[in-house]
Amino acid sequence: MSCDVVIIGGGATGVGVLRDAAMRGFSTILVERVDLAQGTTGRYHGLLHSGGRYVVSDPHSATECAEENVILKRIHPDAVEETGGLFVALDGDDPEFPDKFAKGAADTGVPVTEISAAAALKREPRLNPHIMRAFEVEDGTVDGWRMVWGAVHSAEEYGGRYLTYHRVTAIEMHDGAVTGVVCHSDKDDEDVHIECRAIVNAAGPWAGQIAALAGEHDIHVVPGRGIMVAMNHRLVNTVVNRCVYPTDGDILVPVHTVSIIGTTDVRATDPDHLVIEQNEVQKMLDSGEALVPGFRKNRALHVWAGARPLLQDKRVSANDTRHMSRNMSVVKHDVKRLVTVAGGKLTTYRLMAERVVDAVCEELGENRACRTAEEPVATGPTYQVTHRLAGVEKAKKRDGGLPDKDPIICECELVTKSMITKLLDEQPHATFDDLRRQLRIGMGPCQGGFCASRTAGIAHEHGCWSSQQATELLRLFLKNRWGGLYPVLYGQQAREAALDEWIYSGTLGLDDVPASPLPAGAELPSATRFPNPAGQESPTHVTEGGAQ
Ligand SMILES: Cc1cc2nc3c(=O)[nH]c(=O)nc-3n(C[C@H](O)[C@H](O)[C@H](O)COP(=O)(O)OP(=O)(O)OC[C@H]3O[C@@H](n4cnc5c(N)ncnc54)[C@H](O)[C@@H]3O)c2cc1C
Repeated sequence: MSCDVVIIGGGATGVGVLRDAAMRGFSTILVERVDLAQGTTGRYHGLLHSGGRYVVSDPHSATECAEENVILKRIHPDAVEETGGLFVALDGDDPEFPDKFAKGAADTGVPVTEISAAAALKREPRLNPHIMRAFEVEDGTVDGWRMVWGAVHSAEEYGGRYLTYHRVTAIEMHDGAVTGVVCHSDKDDEDVHIECRAIVNAAGPWAGQIAALAGEHDIHVVPGRGIMVAMNHRLVNTVVNRCVYPTDGDILVPVHTVSIIGTTDVRATDPDHLVIEQNEVQKMLDSGEALVPGFRKNRALHVWAGARPLLQDKRVSANDTRHMSRNMSVVKHDVKRLVTVAGGKLTTYRLMAERVVDAVCEELGENRACRTAEEPVATGPTYQVTHRLAGVEKAKKRDGGLPDKDPIICECELVTKSMITKLLDEQPHATFDDLRRQLRIGMGPCQGGFCASRTAGIAHEHGCWSSQQATELLRLFLKNRWGGLYPVLYGQQAREAALDEWIYSGTLGLDDVPASPLPAGAELPSATRFPNPAGQESPTHVTEGGAQ
């Protein structure tokens, strides 16, 4: 294969570069070792930043977030929910911070309005009533998978191509400049060679490894690990931030049907092995309790971890990822026509892509203008929490009230049979987790208990998975879900897990079905380990990007 620009990494940043470069008329191919948005982009908190979080700690990032917030709401209306946000200072919080916050917001151009505690409580009645100060901001929430797939389809309209399950194993060079990449296709077990004029390294926390393939060892990407816990309801309908200097568990985000409390920030050694500590989970639940009294009485659904692609920041100690800058960095190397991008936020993905493609243009000596902020990825429908319910009701009316024509397979997330078969027609090699990421199967309160076996049956009946593959993918899916359930096995969650165990081991006898090899490429490279209560490390489990 050949093209002008190869992009390595199919997270938000890489996909943004694919779209931007394709719109500027470059022929482009994106290569991703797993599925799109399976890395950090599928394991983040779900917040479309207003910039408020950074007005004191990182003013430059605050301004970028505020500007991109407006643009993303305009170009991704189907993926962004305009929830608005609150910053609340509670009794006992640093009383001087709210004034610093208000000043920082004015200095950085982040829209902030102070409101009374009573007005904040009227808007969010479950909030802790001991509010000292409250501010409204323009926060929103964003469905990262919807945003990424939207941007990819937009890129395809301009000729952009993408190869998932293709892992870059080598970068080829001639005369000090890149000439191509070699990737291994895990599904076909073959090497693919792509000739190109330029390479963008958008491999997020893995960017250092990719740069090293070109002999560039000066990219020090520090994986800043953060965990998040999804609760089984929307406890708030507005993003709620604690009005304090950024700290653990300071943001509660309502995403789709759940609320997510997060996050932590600890240096990880390897982005493929992220550990979830039991005490961190308890810390998140305590933080949620401080914001919303009674938080712990709700059911914790799932826990997961992601790794921020932070560039080593010499101002702070090497392990202090909490205080490392969230600024984006676009790096040109001694090797010509190789550009690396790291840092930033999902909220600033479009801006990062614009700066990267500007750098590629400079490397190639061409001048082509960016148009991604003007042209929308989607023109509608505007995001609504209840859009699936409306769709199901409409279909029922159309079919004379007969739900059997297109039955609901996942009741928690209202996924119908035709949604599954349509996606399988588009992506016949999709694994169970690919379906989950795009349709949200198994991400609601039952965590796959009821819908997983049905989905496996449908994919088999549809001719996509053999019966052995369906069984193995089902087993792997349940194992991956289990990774995020194990740390919250208490109360109602323990009852649900016991029920699921009865369904799969007791009734279906899944443990007794003979094992066969997994379809190639199905096993994820990223794994999250967590110590068991006795302090020993359990077998490696994967927490698959949670409920955002
Ligand atoms: C805990 C946490 C919470 C966060 N919350 C927010 C938030 O609320 N709002 C916000 O705006 N931002 C948030 N962020 C930041 C945001 O998620 C990231 O900045 C963003 O997702 C990074 O995207 P990326 O494309 O750069 O990296 P990734 O999404 O990690 O993409 C890199 C890709 O490269 C691929 N790759 C690696 N090696 C290879 C190879 N050899 N060949 C091919 N492909 C390869 C990986 O599989 C991966 O898919 C959060 C981050 C974390 C960790």
